[in-house]
Amino acid sequence: MEACVFCEIVAGRAAASVVHGDDDVLAILDLHPATPGHVLVIPRAHVRGLAEAGDAIGGPIWRAARRVAAALRASGLRCEGVRLSLADGEAAGQDVFHLHLHVVPRFAGDGVVVSAEWRSRSRARLDQDAALIRAALPRCPADPLTWRRPRHRDVVMLPACSARPGLTTSSTSSASTGSCSRMTRMS
Ligand SMILES: [Zn+2]
Repeated sequence: MEACVFCEIVAGRAAASVVHGDDDVLAILDLHPATPGHVLVIPRAHVRGLAEAGDAIGGPIWRAARRVAAALRASGLRCEGVRLSLADGEAAGQDVFHLHLHVVPRFAGDGVVVSAEWRSRSRARLDQDAALIRAALPRCPADPLTWRRPRHRDVVMLPACSARPGLTTSSTSSASTGSCSRMTRMS
């Protein structure tokens, strides 16, 4: 089974250009940057996606991303704006299944494309969509897991609101060595 490339970096067994590290997260440069200075903030623990990322890890990720964004603006690298992006699931463009938040310096003419077929939707349809989501929220608590710095081989129970309720998955089954999502595939 292939190792998770981000876990390998966290363990010091794979190379990375590190810009920040603390007890909970590591911030590294993307190997295939959308623009120079494109940073990935990753939790040290193997967290596959948003369903496993409770507040205790979400907070440190957000705090690091904000600091990195400020540092990018102050770094001398070209950075007139910052775009944060997180792909949760293959259909969303995730191709390394260890949660990571992109922090991308943006500037006029940077060539980064974020495209979609933007559609208009009637108020009635919007209200229907909102009702579906509101009805699902009680089944999806904000922080469904009790956080305890899991080791890489810990088994994690996904919350009931995940696509496959009750599924037990081992973090070692989600290894991937692919490159990170490119900005051109983000929505
Ligand atoms: Zn990992």
